[in-house]
Amino acid sequence: MVPVQIKIKEKNYLFIEWNDGTETSIKLANLRKNCPCAVCISEKNKYGSKYIPIYSGEQLSVKNIQMIGSYAIGIEWADNHNTGIYDFTYLKKISDLSK
Ligand SMILES: [Zn+2]
Repeated sequence: MVPVQIKIKEKNYLFIEWNDGTETSIKLANLRKNCPCAVCISEKNKYGSKYIPIYSGEQLSVKNIQMIGSYAIGIEWADNHNTGIYDFTYLKKISDLSK
C-alpha cells in the first residue's frame, strides 16, 4: 500500500489516496497531536492523558511533505517542527480516530 496522491485539502486536512483505491483524511490538528517523534511523545508522557495541547496557526500549517523510503512520509510544519515520521499504517490508524 503506497500513496498515489497526497495533498492538503481545505487548508486543514491531509488527504491521501492509496494505490488500493482507498482514501484517508486526517485533520491537521489531529496529525500534529499524534506526531510520533520523540519530543512530542515525551511531552505527552509528561503531562499525561489529560493534557490538551493548544496549537498556534503555524503549528497546524504544513510547509512540506516528503516521502521517507517507501513506508512513511515526513511532515515539516510551518513552525519548523520536522522530526515526525508517519508510517503508512500509523496514518491509517489515526485517520480512524479523526472521524
Ligand atoms: Zn513531534
